Amino acid sequence: MMGQRLLSDEYEVKDVLGRGGFSVVRRGVNTKPSGGKTEVAIKTLKRSVSDHNIGMVSRDKKSLVSGFPIWKQVSISDVLLTNEILVMRKIVEDVSPHPNVIHLYDVYEDSKGVHLILELCSGGELFDRIVAQERYNEAGAAVVVQQIASGLSALHQANIVHRDLKPENCLFLNESERSPLKIMDFGLSSVEEFTDPVVGLFGSIDYVSPEALSQGRISSASDMWSLGVILYILLSGYPPFHATSNRHKQQLILAGDFSFDEHTWKNISSSAKQLISSLLTVDPHKRPNAQELLLHPWVIGDSAKQDLMDAEVVSRLQSFNARRKFRAAAIASVLSSKVLLRTKRLRSMLGSYDLSPDELETLRMHFKTVCANGDNATLSEFDE
Ligand code: ATP
Repeated sequence: MMGQRLLSDEYEVKDVLGRGGFSVVRRGVNTKPSGGKTEVAIKTLKRSVSDHNIGMVSRDKKSLVSGFPIWKQVSISDVLLTNEILVMRKIVEDVSPHPNVIHLYDVYEDSKGVHLILELCSGGELFDRIVAQERYNEAGAAVVVQQIASGLSALHQANIVHRDLKPENCLFLNESERSPLKIMDFGLSSVEEFTDPVVGLFGSIDYVSPEALSQGRISSASDMWSLGVILYILLSGYPPFHATSNRHKQQLILAGDFSFDEHTWKNISSSAKQLISSLLTVDPHKRPNAQELLLHPWVIGDSAKQDLMDAEVVSRLQSFNARRKFRAAAIASVLSSKVLLRTKRLRSMLGSYDLSPDELETLRMHFKTVCANGDNATLSEFDE
């Protein structure tokens, strides 16, 4: 699959579809004679965020990810990059094409980085689509859960744990009402036996399982926890573990301390609540696995209510989604832009993005590392 072929010889690269912390995703058209002008998504993973080594050290005798010598210091973006390719390859080899897992068609490498040629998902992100629906009900949410569980079941059978399952990593393939939902973004995933990925340093901990927070053994059950969080938000419009600081949020997650407050949850079926409680069980062994979920009466639609969801739930989901996007844009822009890193008024700019103190601290640490590695920026610029 990997070779010295040039991306530009085989694909026409078009508009930007989105940006991640270490990547940019563009639309592409296959110009190979056999390509039939198929549209694809080209995810370009940049080699290093600042061309500086940030001091990540492999903890294991094995290489952190294949391609890096033992104990060699590598940058976060290199780890994510190599990990994503490794996991995507494993998916190509071990998971037969599954309607709910993004397909990888090809990989190219050049001086700009590594380009993953992916199935193009033009149907939008999970929550964007839900909030735009005129008729949203439990049965609709059940279809979403069924599709994610089906994709997870295939991944878990191949010993792949996603580790970063969240709504923005679930995209609809197309705009049709019956479009499949695809699980994507395997930058933090792990293939048991092979990788020892870094825990995500940026973004929300809303979906992270207690065992991931406590550095315990992360397994396929950790993805089931994340699915429980997604389901809770789908039916209420807010996350189950709600706190103003990450420290407090962590405590709630570790204790599995959440509730179904009467006002919001009174119209939701007891079957859905039972399902959420089983997924948000602190002991990973007691959570249902993906295959069991696919047999659950609520997931197959038998006990999911058909009544329209309260307007309040949809409007809360709308604001939750909007706020999340705004913050993600801030984090992505800081991580991807050197210019911004050198901007004196960075902190006040970030202020307008409504970041939490913890998110600001994470960015401050990132900034500090870049400075320590010789970048012209200084920490005082951030603290100003
Ligand atoms: P990172 O991988 O650095 O954690 P991320 O998860 O935010 O970042 P990416 O996977 O890099 O994001 O994707 C960035 C954006 O590009 C996404 O928000 C998504 O909207 C869009 N995108 C990614 N993959 C596809 C795809 N296959 N088809 C259509 N759009 C995509």
